[in-house]
Amino acid sequence: SFIFTSPRGPLHVPADIDLVSFLLLNTSPRRYHQRLAIVDALSSQSFTYLEFHHHVRSVARAISSLGIRQHEVVLILSPNSIFFPVLFLAVTSLGAVVTTANPLSTRAEIGKQAKDCKTKLILTAPELSEKVMNLGLPVILIDGVKSVANPDANGRNSTRMLSDVIKEGSEHRMPSIKINQTDTAALLYSSGTTGVSKGVVLTHMNFIASCLQLNYDRDLHQENDLTFLCILPMFHAFGLIIIIYAQMQCGNTIVTMPQFDFVLMLQAIEKYRITTLFLVPPIILGLAKQEIVKKYDLSSVTEISSGAAPIGKETFVQIHQRLKIPDLRQGYGMTETAGIISAGLLKEEKKNYATVGPLVSGMEAVIVDPNSGRRQPPNKQGEIWLRGPNVMKGYLNNPEATASTLDGDGWLHTGDVGYIDDEANVYIVDRLKELIKFKGLQVAPAELEALLVTHSEIVDAAVVPLPDEVAGEVPLAYVVRARGSSLNEQSIIRFVAAQVAPYKKVRAVKFIDAIPKSSSGKILRRELIQSLVSKL
Ligand code: AMP
Repeated sequence: SFIFTSPRGPLHVPADIDLVSFLLLNTSPRRYHQRLAIVDALSSQSFTYLEFHHHVRSVARAISSLGIRQHEVVLILSPNSIFFPVLFLAVTSLGAVVTTANPLSTRAEIGKQAKDCKTKLILTAPELSEKVMNLGLPVILIDGVKSVANPDANGRNSTRMLSDVIKEGSEHRMPSIKINQTDTAALLYSSGTTGVSKGVVLTHMNFIASCLQLNYDRDLHQENDLTFLCILPMFHAFGLIIIIYAQMQCGNTIVTMPQFDFVLMLQAIEKYRITTLFLVPPIILGLAKQEIVKKYDLSSVTEISSGAAPIGKETFVQIHQRLKIPDLRQGYGMTETAGIISAGLLKEEKKNYATVGPLVSGMEAVIVDPNSGRRQPPNKQGEIWLRGPNVMKGYLNNPEATASTLDGDGWLHTGDVGYIDDEANVYIVDRLKELIKFKGLQVAPAELEALLVTHSEIVDAAVVPLPDEVAGEVPLAYVVRARGSSLNEQSIIRFVAAQVAPYKKVRAVKFIDAIPKSSSGKILRRELIQSLVSKL
């Protein structure tokens, strides 16, 4: 009872097909061959669909020639580039598994992840090589995918240039393997509802389902001439699956750039006549508010979708008035669902900017009262639980975290609080889980707490989200100082900043006598958050 299903109709996932074959089959019809698949807005380098597929195969051969086998893990550490999706598919076409990391991560953070998922090989951009040099793993520097000879990099140490490996591997015979849809394609890291970052096990099926779910409302025979901008990171499900692969499935063009810059983004929209923007709230806020936006011709844009964090509906109203963009909608997703759960309908007459849209095809939901455990009827709020073909297999080597997130009936407990109205629209109202979202990026409180208590003058700590107009939320640390310590806010902020990726920095500190805890020793975050909000 009270199981909400998608109003969109059933999802048909083609059987017996792996991710790469699915994408190649869908995008390889003649009509797509000469179309641009992906363009770098800064260098203007690009691949047509034909070139893209060719490069996937040659990189796959190269990686296979290095001895990477089915089910082994390859880490990609790279800013957005036209090579990133090539490398990703090359690895998965071998039945091997990709794990991705934020290029802003510190060496320690990357080392920890590489060890956690038993990485065998690292593919990284030359400018990031310092971060992975001493991990004792072979490293391939991404210098392009064309077979250009590079006489200087003759396999010294265990670092090689990708172009050399491609050249040497060109004669390599590909192993014959069988990939099942339930095989793992990627391990994307997320802290889930509690604790530190964990490997989210996503299968070929999860990726394929997510692409189909996102594109369900589009007529792929008519709407395959869209141009998307991908400035969201490709290491995250939103950029990787929702923007890159779902769009490749349609034969759309993706324009990307290595780093986010607001003005460069505006220039790229104008230059490439971008039609579709999938963005996170802080960037949309910029489009609504910043003066400089007026200097650019953004008239090609017909759709903006917002995801990864909540957005105020006033922001959409402002965008609508200012830029006259017809389709503004929200989507809701998480790493554990391969990036998608619900999405607003396109071309709707009646605009409802508050909803994150109806469930995507193939998703089922129940709304559960966290206190009574009872399933809620429409319009009543509770924790959102989900089931569907895009839901992860579990967390890597972590049966405990898996069991507390995926229950025996297959429901994924999202840690988000929301409700579903009579028209099947989903609304997100709160977050039960610990997660902090800084500009749509995950910050795990548990990780910062563990770091804080390594300071000799810090006895205990709890990190909670502090609402912030631009970033959405920033991490605030409640700190219990050691007796007699005069440690101040700035030195604590510096202490953390020196050891974590910049977006995870603690941005404010409050001193407290004791961290409120339950009898089982769990931090009572709600209490801290409520006392914070009541003082704002
Ligand atoms: P991630 O795994 O990094 O994609 O984070 C997933 C979480 O981001 C969700 O569980 C939500 O808490 C939050 N989130 C994603 N999309 C939205 C949205 N449209 N509105 C509010 N929160 C969102």
